[in-house]
Amino acid sequence: MGEAWSRQLVRAVPATSVGVAFLRFLGGGFRCLQGLDLADAVVVVLLLSGVGLSAWRRLSREGEPTAREEVELGAGLLASAYVVVCVGGAALWPIVCLLMASLVAFSGRTAGFVLLAVALSFDGISTLAQPAGGVSAFAAHAAFLALFSALYHLVLSARLVLARKAETDAVKNRLREVEERARSFRLVNSGVSPRAAGEKEEEKWLLASVKEVERAVGAALEIAELTLRTQTCAAYLLSEDGRHLRMQDCRSGVDRVCREPLAAGEGVLAGVLKSGAPLRLQGRSLRIPWYEADGSQPSSALLVPIREPSGGVRGVLVADRAEEKAFSPEDERVLTAVAGEVSRAIEGERVMALIRKGKDEKDRFYRALEEMNRAGSPDEVFHAVLEGVRQLAPVDFLAVTLVSEEDGKRAHKVVRTSGVTPGGRALVGRSFADNTGLVSNVVRYGAALPGRDVRDMDRQVIFDEESEIRGLAGLKIFPLLASDRILGTLVAGSRRRGVLDPDVLRMLEVMALQAGQAVLRAQLFEQMERMATTDGLTGLLNHRTFQQRADDILAHSRRYGRRASLILTDIDHFKSVNDTHGHPMGDQVLKGVARVVREQARDTDVVARYGGEEFAIVMPETDARGALIIAERIRQAVMAQVFQTDSGPLKVTLSLGIATTPDHAADKQGLVDLADQCLYFAKRHGRNQAVTVDRMQAGNGALHAAG
Ligand code: GH3
Ligand code: MG
Ligand code: MG
Repeated sequence: MGEAWSRQLVRAVPATSVGVAFLRFLGGGFRCLQGLDLADAVVVVLLLSGVGLSAWRRLSREGEPTAREEVELGAGLLASAYVVVCVGGAALWPIVCLLMASLVAFSGRTAGFVLLAVALSFDGISTLAQPAGGVSAFAAHAAFLALFSALYHLVLSARLVLARKAETDAVKNRLREVEERARSFRLVNSGVSPRAAGEKEEEKWLLASVKEVERAVGAALEIAELTLRTQTCAAYLLSEDGRHLRMQDCRSGVDRVCREPLAAGEGVLAGVLKSGAPLRLQGRSLRIPWYEADGSQPSSALLVPIREPSGGVRGVLVADRAEEKAFSPEDERVLTAVAGEVSRAIEGERVMALIRKGKDEKDRFYRALEEMNRAGSPDEVFHAVLEGVRQLAPVDFLAVTLVSEEDGKRAHKVVRTSGVTPGGRALVGRSFADNTGLVSNVVRYGAALPGRDVRDMDRQVIFDEESEIRGLAGLKIFPLLASDRILGTLVAGSRRRGVLDPDVLRMLEVMALQAGQAVLRAQLFEQMERMATTDGLTGLLNHRTFQQRADDILAHSRRYGRRASLILTDIDHFKSVNDTHGHPMGDQVLKGVARVVREQARDTDVVARYGGEEFAIVMPETDARGALIIAERIRQAVMAQVFQTDSGPLKVTLSLGIATTPDHAADKQGLVDLADQCLYFAKRHGRNQAVTVDRMQAGNGALHAAG
């Protein structure tokens, strides 16, 4: 407790000292050297302790100073400066300007403004109190202070911007150099920029790899230099196109060594590259390509090839001596061994890069498969398939199609696309009949197409004649296989030629295989769900689902005060259909009637099989009049429907009962009961009719009256 208190007290010293100094100025202190008294001395001591404390705190802590720290230290210094100016005379005032400028230069913007305000306050009381001062002097001071601060701030910001730019440029250059080197080490594929691959991680690895090779080459050259006592010893590697030799590293006692790329097809270098054999040179008039032409040339040189494990030559290691001491066969063996070291270092990193790439790919591959297997609905599966493939292969266009078979007729549907090919967007949802296009053929033969590179890709029919996919240079369509069935296709296209290489194709093939399984699983799941909610014979919603949907619709109409109607139907004399034509024929009729009811009802109506040959139609936002119109439409359509039986054509009729909420009943049970009563009324009054509650009540009224 006590300790915390004292710490608080010490913390308050800098701010307090400035405050006290300000009050002292107000009270007329520090007017001249002769007028200084004990109070002034105390204030000065306090100010100096404050400045000392802030400075000490700033220095004892790591990291950037906070705005508070900046203000405390700056204000203390400013107050001290004003003490000096007041006591020493106005001639010293430029001190304040200089101090202000440096404070602004080293502080943040907020702290800078606060310090400017502090300076102006001190200036105000000291200048306005002076007989020679006054408002104009203060205004002049204020203008100078502001000007100095602004100028310093500007200069400093400009310098900062320049420094930052220089730094980013340096980083960029270093990266470019690393890429260049990585390429000559064959750590990355030609044409592929690791930056285009967009992965910081990749960049980091590459940097580490390049550094490692550079370190190894440097060490190898050092050994060569020491053991062979060379004047110059350098490693050159072939450029990607094989036309130049680039200096990788060089240790030399002279500065005439040429650091520019050397032509690989000329002179002694070409000889070593071609023959793959070491070369020893000696003589006064040697023309050494790695030396600048004018000036003295070494008189003995040794060149050995840097070989790839496959036997090819990837560069040349050169060594030379100024004195005429020829390189011996022993020296040649040493330099050859060193060249082997260089080659192994490069190869090691190359293998590492390959392993890393392979591992990354595998990880991504498994992640994609996992996503696919996790997906529940077919739509989620399609999404996962396309996302997964996009992550793995450099493709520009992707699509999934599904095949359907109805009445022996095959049709295809594009269910999802990804990519930026013109027309790709409008493709989703497109259905087309089996044709001679590639997708149809892939499904027909169960094999990936096209077999070879196609010359004129734009003229290929991928889906159907109408859907044009332009601008692709590479294309492959895989069947989506699941056990012995073909569910559809996976279409993969690339705008660049040669992207779909055998590795990529192999991976796409595996993805398509997995996708087939995932799609099948999702479809089975969907089917199961459908079976749980629909009636097997008619395909209408089942009784349980009817109850749920009716609850939902009635709850909605209650909440928003809207109408909803219910129609119950029952086929007339259906028993006799069964009796006359048999139960299977009865089933056919039942199915047919169900189809007619579904067709005649509106899309928003919920149509269910309510019982044996009874259907229910829940109609949201529909009053009794509207429901009667639909009921009549259904009744007449059923009546017009002809069913073919073994013993000739057959027709059936329908009786319907209609009730509306909230007019006739408030809840579901009441509504069902009333609709059922109406249906019963229809049955009793001749069948083949639709009866509303009003009609039934009017009829009953008439009956009562008659009774
Ligand atoms: P009405 O409704 O006009 O009074 O006479 P109905 O003969 O249709 O009488 P009811 O509605 O009571 O008879 C229903 C009959 O429908 C009984 C049953 O044999 C038949 N039925 C119910 N479900 C099925 C089914 O799934 N298939 C077949 N074929 N017949 C069914
Ligand atoms: Mg019935
Ligand atoms: Mg019936």
